[in-house]
Amino acid sequence: AKAGGKHQFRIFDETMRFDLLHKRKLEDALQGALSQNQFTLHFQKQVHVPSGEVKGYEALLRWQQPDGLYIPPAEWIQLAEETGLIVPIGYWVLQTACQTAKKWQDALQTRFTISVNISALQLMQYDFADQVLAVLAETGLDPRHLVLELTETLLIQSIETSTNHLNFLRDKGVRIALDDFGKGFSSLSYIKQLPADIIKIDKSFIDHIDDSSVDRVIMESIISLVQRIDKEVVAEGVEKQEQLRILQAIGCDFVQGYYFSKPLPEHQAFHALVEV
Ligand code: C2E
Ligand code: CA
Ligand code: CA
Ligand code: CA
Repeated sequence: AKAGGKHQFRIFDETMRFDLLHKRKLEDALQGALSQNQFTLHFQKQVHVPSGEVKGYEALLRWQQPDGLYIPPAEWIQLAEETGLIVPIGYWVLQTACQTAKKWQDALQTRFTISVNISALQLMQYDFADQVLAVLAETGLDPRHLVLELTETLLIQSIETSTNHLNFLRDKGVRIALDDFGKGFSSLSYIKQLPADIIKIDKSFIDHIDDSSVDRVIMESIISLVQRIDKEVVAEGVEKQEQLRILQAIGCDFVQGYYFSKPLPEHQAFHALVEV
């Protein structure tokens, strides 16, 4: 928690996390959050390494309660998954992210991608692909400017339905990113099975590339592997200039992280685009 920061943080410790009463309260609050417009999106830059240009933005969900308290997604995304609430919430995220991206593109006459995190539960809906197409049609966003980010751990549950939806959407131009790559156990088999265009390498692989030669070699190998099977690489959680320098030398395509920018509220993210 950051004392004295712009937001107040509510800290949930492990005892509270498993406290049923607390969980039920949180669930009730989560139910109301959608209808009461308590969700908002923040946007984090994704930067093309060779040119330094902004390639796009990742939309990240934020929950600000009426009392001003801000609850980080790590504290409630899992509960939203367990209760199924992530389905309507995720639909709202998709709609809002596409709408915002289209608005920015029109205002600036520039092209960039918008990346949206998708839960496995959303992907398991029989009409998921139709919903995505409907949102694209409604907002007027070019499908080639939408990236869906999926985590491998969540995809285990229904690889066949998922693959069908994803292949259908890819045919329309939507691109698929495999998020948190390397965190799970069966990463390499997922790269083989999943119709992904982009691999996002988990922050834990980037954290020590500036002080561990082993980590550097692992990163180098992952990047060359991914590029040899014609996929793009995004390194997540780049915080230091030295990490960027190494990633540049290794030939990493895209980077994202606090070194460039934290996720920003809509108007700030828009201004950052104008300044480019
Ligand atoms: P993620 O998809 O892996 O998103 C990246 C997370 O890393 C974000 O945390 C981002 O703020 C943080 N991050 C980015 N750069 C840095 C850095 O340089 N250093 C550090 N320490 N962190 C960095 P955030 O926004 O708290 O989101 C956490 C997770 O919540 C996301 O991880 C994603 O799994 C989930 N999430 C967020 N928004 C959504 C959403 O709309 N739908 C779903 N299903 N999940 C979401
Ligand atoms: Ca993500
Ligand atoms: Ca990630
Ligand atoms: Ca994650």
